[in-house]
Amino acid sequence: MVPRVIFGRGSFNQLNDILEPKRLNSKAPFIFLVDDVFKNNAWLTSRIPLAYDDKIIYISAAEEPKTSQVDELVEDIILTTKERPSGIIGIGGGTLLDLAKAVSIMLTNEGEAKDYQGWDLVKNEAIYHVGIPTISGTGAEVSRTTVLTGPEKKLGINSDYTPFDQVVLDSELTKDVPKEQWFYTGMDCYIHCIESLEGSYLNAFSQSYGEKAFDLCHEIFLDNNLSDEESQEKLMMASWHGGMSIAYSQVGVAHAMSYGLAYLLGTKHGIGNCIVFDHLEEFYPEGVKLFKEMKAKHNVELPQGICANLSDAEFDIMINVSLGMAPLWENALGKNWKSIMTPKKLKSLYQKM
Ligand code: NAD
Ligand code: ZN
Repeated sequence: MVPRVIFGRGSFNQLNDILEPKRLNSKAPFIFLVDDVFKNNAWLTSRIPLAYDDKIIYISAAEEPKTSQVDELVEDIILTTKERPSGIIGIGGGTLLDLAKAVSIMLTNEGEAKDYQGWDLVKNEAIYHVGIPTISGTGAEVSRTTVLTGPEKKLGINSDYTPFDQVVLDSELTKDVPKEQWFYTGMDCYIHCIESLEGSYLNAFSQSYGEKAFDLCHEIFLDNNLSDEESQEKLMMASWHGGMSIAYSQVGVAHAMSYGLAYLLGTKHGIGNCIVFDHLEEFYPEGVKLFKEMKAKHNVELPQGICANLSDAEFDIMINVSLGMAPLWENALGKNWKSIMTPKKLKSLYQKM
Protein backbone atom coordinates (compact mmCIF):
# COMPACT_ATOMS: atom_id res chain seq x y z
CA MET A 1 0.00 0.00 0.00
CA VAL A 2 0.98 3.64 -0.40
CA PRO A 3 2.35 4.54 3.04
CA ARG A 4 1.82 8.32 2.86
CA VAL A 5 -0.95 10.34 1.32
CA ILE A 6 -2.01 13.93 1.60
CA PHE A 7 -5.48 14.98 0.47
CA GLY A 8 -6.97 18.42 -0.03
CA ARG A 9 -7.60 21.21 -2.45
CA GLY A 10 -4.40 23.22 -2.73
CA SER A 11 -2.24 20.57 -1.06
CA PHE A 12 0.10 20.73 -4.07
CA ASN A 13 1.47 23.87 -2.41
CA GLN A 14 3.00 21.69 0.29
CA LEU A 15 5.23 19.79 -2.10
CA ASN A 16 8.38 21.50 -0.90
CA ASP A 17 7.66 20.55 2.72
CA ILE A 18 7.10 16.97 1.66
CA LEU A 19 10.20 16.62 -0.49
CA GLU A 20 12.91 18.54 1.34
CA PRO A 21 13.31 16.06 4.23
CA LYS A 22 13.78 13.33 1.62
CA ARG A 23 16.71 15.00 -0.12
CA LEU A 24 19.75 12.72 -0.08
CA ASN A 25 23.32 13.87 0.62
CA SER A 26 21.81 17.29 1.15
CA LYS A 27 21.70 18.03 -2.57
CA ALA A 28 20.97 15.01 -4.80
CA PRO A 29 18.34 16.13 -7.30
CA PHE A 30 14.66 15.46 -7.53
CA ILE A 31 13.49 14.68 -11.07
CA PHE A 32 9.97 15.78 -11.96
CA LEU A 33 8.30 13.92 -14.81
CA VAL A 34 5.48 16.24 -15.88
CA ASP A 35 2.77 15.82 -18.54
CA ASP A 36 3.65 18.24 -21.32
CA VAL A 37 0.06 19.49 -21.31
CA PHE A 38 1.35 21.67 -18.41
CA LYS A 39 4.31 23.12 -20.28
CA ASN A 40 3.99 26.94 -20.09
CA ASN A 41 1.22 26.56 -17.52
CA ALA A 42 2.62 28.80 -14.79
CA TRP A 43 -0.29 28.09 -12.46
CA LEU A 44 1.08 24.59 -12.01
CA THR A 45 4.76 24.70 -12.94
CA SER A 46 5.64 27.78 -10.87
CA ARG A 47 4.70 25.76 -7.80
CA ILE A 48 7.11 22.91 -8.54
CA PRO A 49 9.86 23.54 -5.99
CA LEU A 50 13.23 23.43 -7.77
CA ALA A 51 16.58 23.61 -5.95
CA TYR A 52 20.18 22.53 -6.66
CA ASP A 53 20.18 20.34 -9.80
CA ASP A 54 16.49 19.40 -9.66
CA LYS A 55 14.95 19.18 -13.07
CA ILE A 56 11.67 18.95 -14.88
CA ILE A 57 11.31 16.56 -17.81
CA TYR A 58 8.15 17.21 -19.84
CA ILE A 59 6.65 14.11 -21.41
CA SER A 60 3.77 13.74 -23.83
CA ALA A 61 0.90 11.48 -22.78
CA ALA A 62 -0.19 11.04 -26.40
CA GLU A 63 1.08 7.47 -26.30
CA GLU A 64 1.02 5.06 -23.41
CA PRO A 65 4.34 4.27 -21.69
CA LYS A 66 6.76 1.92 -23.42
CA THR A 67 9.54 -0.13 -21.89
CA SER A 68 11.99 1.46 -24.36
CA GLN A 69 10.87 4.92 -23.27
CA VAL A 70 11.54 4.02 -19.64
CA ASP A 71 15.02 2.73 -20.55
CA GLU A 72 15.80 5.96 -22.41
CA LEU A 73 14.63 8.13 -19.53
CA VAL A 74 16.71 6.15 -17.05
CA GLU A 75 19.79 6.39 -19.23
CA ASP A 76 19.27 10.11 -19.67
CA ILE A 77 18.91 10.62 -15.91
CA ILE A 78 22.02 8.55 -15.16
CA LEU A 79 24.06 10.45 -17.75
CA THR A 80 22.95 13.93 -16.74
CA THR A 81 22.89 13.73 -12.94
CA LYS A 82 26.08 13.53 -10.90
CA GLU A 83 24.63 11.29 -8.25
CA ARG A 84 21.66 9.01 -7.78
CA PRO A 85 18.54 11.22 -7.60
CA SER A 86 16.78 11.84 -4.31
CA GLY A 87 13.47 10.97 -5.91
CA ILE A 88 11.22 10.84 -8.94
CA ILE A 89 7.97 12.80 -8.92
CA GLY A 90 5.30 11.99 -11.51
CA ILE A 91 2.75 14.73 -12.26
CA GLY A 92 -0.03 13.84 -14.68
CA GLY A 93 -2.45 11.04 -15.49
CA GLY A 94 -1.92 7.29 -15.51
CA THR A 95 0.70 7.66 -18.25
CA LEU A 96 2.99 9.93 -16.22
CA LEU A 97 2.33 8.12 -12.95
CA ASP A 98 3.30 4.80 -14.51
CA LEU A 99 6.43 6.31 -16.06
CA ALA A 100 7.49 7.72 -12.69
CA LYS A 101 7.01 4.35 -11.01
CA ALA A 102 8.90 2.49 -13.72
CA VAL A 103 11.81 4.95 -13.86
CA SER A 104 12.23 4.83 -10.08
CA ILE A 105 12.43 1.03 -10.25
CA MET A 106 14.82 0.91 -13.18
CA LEU A 107 17.25 3.35 -11.54
CA THR A 108 18.10 0.66 -8.98
CA ASN A 109 17.61 -2.52 -11.00
CA GLU A 110 19.89 -3.82 -13.72
CA GLY A 111 18.90 -4.59 -17.29
CA GLU A 112 15.92 -3.34 -19.22
CA ALA A 113 12.37 -2.54 -18.17
CA LYS A 114 10.99 -5.38 -20.31
CA ASP A 115 12.83 -7.90 -18.10
CA TYR A 116 10.59 -6.94 -15.20
CA GLN A 117 7.16 -7.11 -16.85
CA GLY A 118 5.27 -9.67 -14.81
CA TRP A 119 4.76 -10.43 -11.14
CA ASP A 120 7.38 -9.92 -8.42
CA LEU A 121 10.46 -9.88 -10.64
CA VAL A 122 11.93 -6.67 -9.19
CA LYS A 123 14.92 -7.37 -6.92
CA ASN A 124 15.94 -4.03 -5.45
CA GLU A 125 13.90 -1.35 -3.76
CA ALA A 126 13.06 1.56 -6.07
CA ILE A 127 14.23 5.06 -5.31
CA TYR A 128 11.81 7.36 -3.48
CA HIS A 129 8.88 8.17 -5.76
CA VAL A 130 5.90 10.45 -5.46
CA GLY A 131 2.67 10.43 -7.50
CA ILE A 132 0.60 13.52 -8.13
CA PRO A 133 -2.47 12.76 -10.28
CA THR A 134 -3.92 15.51 -12.47
CA ILE A 135 -6.80 13.42 -13.83
CA SER A 136 -8.76 10.81 -11.90
CA GLY A 137 -9.86 7.29 -12.67
CA THR A 138 -7.05 4.84 -13.39
CA GLY A 139 -6.09 4.16 -9.80
CA ALA A 140 -2.46 4.22 -10.94
CA GLU A 141 -1.77 6.51 -7.97
CA VAL A 142 -2.49 3.67 -5.59
CA SER A 143 -1.78 0.43 -7.46
CA ARG A 144 1.19 -1.93 -7.23
CA THR A 145 1.73 -2.02 -10.97
CA THR A 146 3.07 0.16 -13.75
CA VAL A 147 1.59 -0.82 -17.09
CA LEU A 148 4.10 -0.81 -19.94
CA THR A 149 4.02 -1.80 -23.58
CA GLY A 150 7.11 -3.83 -24.39
CA PRO A 151 8.40 -5.51 -27.54
CA GLU A 152 6.32 -8.60 -26.83
CA LYS A 153 3.52 -7.62 -24.52
CA LYS A 154 1.59 -4.96 -22.70
CA LEU A 155 2.02 -5.98 -19.10
CA GLY A 156 2.71 -4.31 -15.80
CA ILE A 157 5.70 -4.41 -13.52
CA ASN A 158 3.79 -5.73 -10.51
CA SER A 159 5.86 -5.66 -7.35
CA ASP A 160 5.99 -4.57 -3.75
CA TYR A 161 8.45 -1.86 -4.81
CA THR A 162 6.11 -0.36 -7.40
CA PRO A 163 3.64 1.63 -5.23
CA PHE A 164 4.42 5.26 -4.59
CA ASP A 165 6.09 6.24 -1.32
CA GLN A 166 3.92 9.33 -1.22
CA VAL A 167 0.84 10.52 -3.08
CA VAL A 168 -0.51 14.06 -3.21
CA LEU A 169 -4.25 14.19 -3.95
CA ASP A 170 -5.11 17.77 -4.89
CA SER A 171 -8.36 17.74 -6.87
CA GLU A 172 -7.78 21.29 -8.06
CA LEU A 173 -5.12 19.91 -10.42
CA THR A 174 -7.89 18.14 -12.36
CA LYS A 175 -10.00 21.25 -13.01
CA ASP A 176 -9.03 21.68 -16.69
CA VAL A 177 -9.35 18.10 -17.89
CA PRO A 178 -11.32 18.12 -21.19
CA LYS A 179 -14.81 16.65 -20.81
CA GLU A 180 -14.40 13.62 -23.06
CA GLN A 181 -11.14 12.64 -21.38
CA TRP A 182 -12.78 13.15 -17.98
CA PHE A 183 -15.43 10.65 -19.03
CA TYR A 184 -13.06 8.06 -20.51
CA THR A 185 -10.66 8.04 -17.56
CA GLY A 186 -13.56 8.25 -15.08
CA MET A 187 -15.13 5.22 -16.75
CA ASP A 188 -11.88 3.32 -16.25
CA CYS A 189 -12.66 3.62 -12.55
CA TYR A 190 -16.28 2.62 -13.03
CA ILE A 191 -15.21 -0.43 -15.06
CA HIS A 192 -12.65 -1.38 -12.39
CA CYS A 193 -15.54 -1.49 -9.91
CA ILE A 194 -17.77 -3.65 -12.08
CA GLU A 195 -15.00 -6.06 -13.04
CA SER A 196 -13.84 -6.40 -9.46
CA LEU A 197 -17.31 -6.74 -7.93
CA GLU A 198 -18.51 -9.23 -10.57
CA GLY A 199 -15.31 -11.27 -10.52
CA SER A 200 -14.64 -14.66 -9.01
CA TYR A 201 -11.56 -13.33 -7.15
CA LEU A 202 -13.71 -11.01 -5.07
CA ASN A 203 -13.10 -10.95 -1.33
CA ALA A 204 -14.40 -8.74 1.49
CA PHE A 205 -11.36 -6.45 1.30
CA SER A 206 -11.79 -5.71 -2.42
CA GLN A 207 -15.54 -5.58 -2.15
CA SER A 208 -15.55 -2.87 0.49
CA TYR A 209 -13.41 -0.61 -1.70
CA GLY A 210 -15.24 -1.56 -4.90
CA GLU A 211 -18.67 -0.78 -3.48
CA LYS A 212 -17.56 2.61 -2.21
CA ALA A 213 -16.02 3.49 -5.57
CA PHE A 214 -19.14 2.31 -7.37
CA ASP A 215 -21.38 4.52 -5.21
CA LEU A 216 -19.15 7.52 -5.82
CA CYS A 217 -19.23 6.89 -9.60
CA HIS A 218 -23.01 6.73 -9.44
CA GLU A 219 -23.14 10.09 -7.67
CA ILE A 220 -20.69 11.69 -10.07
CA PHE A 221 -21.87 10.34 -13.41
CA LEU A 222 -25.61 9.83 -12.85
CA ASP A 223 -27.15 11.64 -9.91
CA ASN A 224 -25.93 15.02 -11.08
CA ASN A 225 -26.31 17.07 -7.90
CA LEU A 226 -22.68 17.86 -7.15
CA SER A 227 -20.75 21.09 -7.62
CA ASP A 228 -17.69 20.86 -9.91
CA GLU A 229 -15.43 20.93 -6.89
CA GLU A 230 -17.30 18.15 -5.09
CA SER A 231 -17.37 16.09 -8.24
CA GLN A 232 -13.59 16.46 -8.73
CA GLU A 233 -12.89 15.54 -5.12
CA LYS A 234 -15.20 12.54 -5.20
CA LEU A 235 -13.78 11.24 -8.47
CA MET A 236 -10.31 11.44 -6.98
CA MET A 237 -11.46 9.26 -4.08
CA ALA A 238 -13.39 6.93 -6.40
CA SER A 239 -10.20 6.38 -8.39
CA TRP A 240 -8.33 5.59 -5.18
CA HIS A 241 -10.93 3.13 -3.97
CA GLY A 242 -11.34 1.52 -7.38
CA GLY A 243 -7.57 1.05 -7.55
CA MET A 244 -7.53 -0.49 -4.08
CA SER A 245 -10.34 -2.80 -5.06
CA ILE A 246 -8.56 -4.28 -8.09
CA ALA A 247 -5.20 -4.37 -6.36
CA TYR A 248 -6.55 -7.20 -4.23
CA SER A 249 -8.76 -8.86 -6.85
CA GLN A 250 -8.44 -8.42 -10.63
CA VAL A 251 -9.97 -6.70 -13.61
CA GLY A 252 -11.95 -8.64 -16.21
CA VAL A 253 -13.22 -8.93 -19.78
CA ALA A 254 -13.11 -5.23 -20.73
CA HIS A 255 -9.50 -4.84 -19.65
CA ALA A 256 -8.38 -8.10 -21.26
CA MET A 257 -9.93 -7.01 -24.56
CA SER A 258 -8.81 -3.40 -24.38
CA TYR A 259 -5.20 -4.54 -23.87
CA GLY A 260 -5.51 -6.27 -27.27
CA LEU A 261 -6.77 -3.06 -28.89
CA ALA A 262 -4.00 -1.06 -27.24
CA TYR A 263 -1.30 -3.44 -28.39
CA LEU A 264 -2.39 -3.61 -32.02
CA LEU A 265 -4.02 -0.24 -32.63
CA GLY A 266 -2.56 1.94 -29.89
CA THR A 267 -6.06 2.62 -28.55
CA LYS A 268 -5.64 4.38 -25.23
CA HIS A 269 -6.74 2.75 -22.00
CA GLY A 270 -9.71 4.91 -21.02
CA ILE A 271 -11.38 5.15 -24.41
CA GLY A 272 -10.45 1.55 -25.26
CA ASN A 273 -12.19 0.27 -22.15
CA CYS A 274 -15.28 2.30 -23.05
CA ILE A 275 -15.35 0.98 -26.63
CA VAL A 276 -15.13 -2.58 -25.36
CA PHE A 277 -17.40 -2.29 -22.34
CA ASP A 278 -20.21 -0.88 -24.50
CA HIS A 279 -20.49 -4.38 -26.09
CA LEU A 280 -20.23 -6.54 -22.98
CA GLU A 281 -23.84 -6.76 -21.81
CA GLU A 282 -23.55 -10.53 -22.07
CA PHE A 283 -20.99 -10.54 -19.25
CA TYR A 284 -21.95 -7.50 -17.20
CA PRO A 285 -25.66 -6.83 -17.91
CA GLU A 286 -26.34 -4.34 -15.09
CA GLY A 287 -22.98 -2.63 -15.35
CA VAL A 288 -23.30 -2.08 -19.09
CA LYS A 289 -26.85 -0.79 -18.75
CA LEU A 290 -25.73 1.90 -16.30
CA PHE A 291 -22.72 2.67 -18.49
CA LYS A 292 -25.00 3.37 -21.43
CA GLU A 293 -27.06 5.70 -19.24
CA MET A 294 -23.93 7.57 -18.22
CA LYS A 295 -22.81 7.82 -21.82
CA ALA A 296 -26.18 9.23 -22.88
CA LYS A 297 -26.34 11.64 -19.97
CA HIS A 298 -22.98 13.17 -20.89
CA ASN A 299 -23.53 13.03 -24.67
CA VAL A 300 -20.46 10.94 -25.28
CA GLU A 301 -20.16 9.31 -28.70
CA LEU A 302 -17.74 6.42 -28.90
CA PRO A 303 -15.77 5.61 -32.06
CA GLN A 304 -17.36 2.80 -34.09
CA GLY A 305 -15.91 0.29 -36.51
CA ILE A 306 -12.33 0.45 -35.27
CA CYS A 307 -11.86 -3.25 -36.12
CA ALA A 308 -13.74 -3.06 -39.43
CA ASN A 309 -10.73 -3.26 -41.71
CA LEU A 310 -8.48 -5.60 -39.81
CA SER A 311 -6.96 -8.66 -41.48
CA ASP A 312 -7.21 -12.13 -39.97
CA ALA A 313 -3.54 -11.90 -38.98
CA GLU A 314 -4.24 -8.67 -37.12
CA PHE A 315 -7.21 -10.18 -35.33
CA ASP A 316 -4.94 -13.04 -34.30
CA ILE A 317 -2.40 -10.68 -32.76
CA MET A 318 -5.10 -8.97 -30.76
CA ILE A 319 -6.66 -12.25 -29.69
CA ASN A 320 -3.30 -13.63 -28.56
CA VAL A 321 -2.50 -10.57 -26.48
CA SER A 322 -5.92 -10.63 -24.93
CA LEU A 323 -6.07 -14.34 -24.18
CA GLY A 324 -2.58 -14.04 -22.70
CA MET A 325 -4.13 -12.21 -19.76
CA ALA A 326 -5.14 -15.44 -18.02
CA PRO A 327 -5.77 -14.02 -14.51
CA LEU A 328 -8.22 -11.46 -15.92
CA TRP A 329 -10.21 -14.11 -17.77
CA GLU A 330 -10.18 -16.46 -14.85
CA ASN A 331 -11.43 -13.69 -12.57
CA ALA A 332 -14.19 -12.81 -15.04
CA LEU A 333 -15.34 -16.24 -16.19
CA GLY A 334 -14.03 -18.75 -13.66
CA LYS A 335 -11.61 -21.67 -13.91
CA ASN A 336 -13.15 -22.94 -17.15
CA TRP A 337 -12.75 -19.64 -18.95
CA LYS A 338 -10.94 -21.23 -21.91
CA SER A 339 -14.03 -23.16 -22.92
CA ILE A 340 -16.16 -20.01 -22.76
CA MET A 341 -13.83 -17.46 -24.33
CA THR A 342 -12.53 -19.32 -27.35
CA PRO A 343 -10.51 -17.42 -29.98
CA LYS A 344 -13.55 -17.61 -32.23
CA LYS A 345 -15.83 -16.08 -29.62
CA LEU A 346 -13.32 -13.34 -28.90
CA LYS A 347 -13.02 -12.54 -32.58
CA SER A 348 -16.78 -12.20 -32.89
CA LEU A 349 -16.75 -9.70 -30.01
CA TYR A 350 -13.93 -7.66 -31.55
CA GLN A 351 -15.79 -7.64 -34.85
CA LYS A 352 -18.63 -5.70 -33.21
CA MET A 353 -16.28 -2.87 -32.26
P1 NAD B 1 -3.31 9.90 -19.55
O1 NAD B 1 -2.29 10.06 -18.51
O2 NAD B 1 -2.96 9.10 -20.74
O3 NAD B 1 -3.82 11.33 -19.98
C1 NAD B 1 -4.94 11.47 -20.85
C2 NAD B 1 -4.98 12.86 -21.44
O4 NAD B 1 -5.38 13.80 -20.45
C3 NAD B 1 -3.65 13.32 -21.97
O5 NAD B 1 -3.86 14.01 -23.16
C4 NAD B 1 -3.15 14.26 -20.88
O6 NAD B 1 -2.27 15.22 -21.39
C5 NAD B 1 -4.46 14.88 -20.43
N1 NAD B 1 -4.45 15.47 -19.08
C6 NAD B 1 -4.06 14.90 -17.92
N2 NAD B 1 -4.26 15.74 -16.88
C7 NAD B 1 -4.79 16.87 -17.41
C8 NAD B 1 -5.23 18.10 -16.84
N3 NAD B 1 -5.22 18.33 -15.53
N4 NAD B 1 -5.72 19.05 -17.67
C9 NAD B 1 -5.79 18.81 -19.02
N5 NAD B 1 -5.40 17.67 -19.61
C10 NAD B 1 -4.92 16.70 -18.81
O7 NAD B 1 -4.69 9.32 -18.99
P2 NAD B 1 -5.16 8.28 -17.93
O8 NAD B 1 -6.43 7.77 -18.45
O9 NAD B 1 -5.10 8.86 -16.57
O10 NAD B 1 -4.04 7.15 -17.96
C11 NAD B 1 -4.00 6.10 -18.90
C12 NAD B 1 -2.78 5.28 -18.62
O11 NAD B 1 -2.88 4.74 -17.31
C13 NAD B 1 -2.57 4.11 -19.55
O12 NAD B 1 -1.23 4.09 -19.95
C14 NAD B 1 -2.88 2.90 -18.70
O13 NAD B 1 -2.17 1.75 -19.08
C15 NAD B 1 -2.49 3.38 -17.34
N6 NAD B 1 -3.17 2.69 -16.23
C16 NAD B 1 -2.40 2.28 -15.20
C17 NAD B 1 -2.96 1.64 -14.13
C18 NAD B 1 -2.09 1.20 -13.00
O14 NAD B 1 -2.58 0.61 -12.05
N7 NAD B 1 -0.81 1.45 -13.04
C19 NAD B 1 -4.33 1.42 -14.06
C20 NAD B 1 -5.11 1.86 -15.12
C21 NAD B 1 -4.51 2.50 -16.20
ZN1 ZN C 1 -8.12 0.30 -16.07
